[in-house]
Amino acid sequence: MFDPTWDTPERLALRESVRGFTGRAIVPHLARWEEAGALPRSLHRAAAAAGLLGIGFPEDVGGSGGDAIDGMVVAEEMILAGGSSGLIASLFTHGIGLPHLIEAGDPGQIERVARPVLAGERIVSLAITEPDAGSDVAGLTTRAVREGDEYVVSGAKLFITSGTRADVFTTAVRTGGDGAGGLSLVLIDANAPGVEVSAPLKKMGWWCSDTAEIRFDAVRVPITNLVGPEHGGFLQIMQQFASERLSMAVQAHATAQRCVDLTIGYAKQRETFGRPIASRQVVRHRIAEMARRTDVARAYTRAVIARWQAGDDVIKEVAMAKNTAVAACDAVVDDAVQLHGGMGYMRETEVERHYRDSRILGIGGGTNEIMTEVVSRLLLA
Ligand SMILES: Cc1cc2nc3c(=O)[nH]c(=O)nc-3n(C[C@H](O)[C@H](O)[C@H](O)COP(=O)(O)OP(=O)(O)OC[C@H]3O[C@@H](n4cnc5c(N)ncnc54)[C@H](O)[C@@H]3O)c2cc1C
Repeated sequence: MFDPTWDTPERLALRESVRGFTGRAIVPHLARWEEAGALPRSLHRAAAAAGLLGIGFPEDVGGSGGDAIDGMVVAEEMILAGGSSGLIASLFTHGIGLPHLIEAGDPGQIERVARPVLAGERIVSLAITEPDAGSDVAGLTTRAVREGDEYVVSGAKLFITSGTRADVFTTAVRTGGDGAGGLSLVLIDANAPGVEVSAPLKKMGWWCSDTAEIRFDAVRVPITNLVGPEHGGFLQIMQQFASERLSMAVQAHATAQRCVDLTIGYAKQRETFGRPIASRQVVRHRIAEMARRTDVARAYTRAVIARWQAGDDVIKEVAMAKNTAVAACDAVVDDAVQLHGGMGYMRETEVERHYRDSRILGIGGGTNEIMTEVVSRLLLA
């Protein structure tokens, strides 16, 4: 499966370091964090000290350098080594919470937010979704009214990843009129008066990734916390969607690959009627099909990522890649549970977690239906 782009000598070394870190600092504790419903802050500091938290972020903002592919290699390898998409969502929430701010380039915001987050000392969340606006980002209603050199923010955000632990929210607010043109991004401190964070929401999967509802009741936010231009929020959000969606596609094919690997191991060792189940053609063919789906998803996702890195306009293909990888993952995790029999249904079995965790990949970062809508709109324009 060697790939000249994804397996350069530098990236192979990065993979090895991710595998070592995951084996040491994550795998022995993940089941406990799943039950606890959150990751410890010490893991963020440890990942920063290992040089992994800031991969894909420039060194001049506190990152470890490298490009978007390096960041995706970290996520891919962490899942292949026994992590999970829920772990990635929570440990790397800054992957969606920081890019707008770094792109905007305000030195004060970079010092106050980007550097401490990339050092593992603070946690940032991205707060866009609302109780009445998810897919329809342009319809969000959290309002920011300008009063002197402050905004007064009122409204609510829902399903916010790392929301119960976040120190700061990169928040989409309505500073102007209706529709996409009235949105802006502002940084809101979690401890500002008027910010209320819910208890962790109970979920089907992603248990180690805490998720919260955030309420803003007349929260006073200095205008220096505006990220990028006023009323430019919708464009900023859309510009970052490609990397979020591609990253989710990578997590989907990595989860599928991990389930293929685990299922091959189990099928060789589990005996029924005096023979390993791997000797039965129906099982062998099912595993072959799991591997085929996974390989196609990975190859297509990587091809789209290569075009995206080269600066091509790939909005349509990014949506196709996310749906392709999510569909592969959905089918593969289901087969993995099935081929593990009763053990596949047990909490102690890793594929059980992947089965629950992967269900969100076709909902978050743009649902399957919205991806298909993007493709059809661009195809039939
Ligand atoms: C665990 C988890 C973590 C999350 N983390 C974050 C986060 O950190 N930050 C954040 O801002 N958000 C986050 N989200 C929110 C997530 O991005 C939204 O749930 C997602 O965008 C879908 O929005 P919705 O839930 O409002 O569904 P809706 O938009 O209400 O959609 C409901 C259904 O209708 C379909 N639908 C909607 N519109 C159309 C249409 N035009 N055509 C056809 N079908 C349509 C959808 O595909 C879906 O099947 C998270 C969600 C979860 C569950």
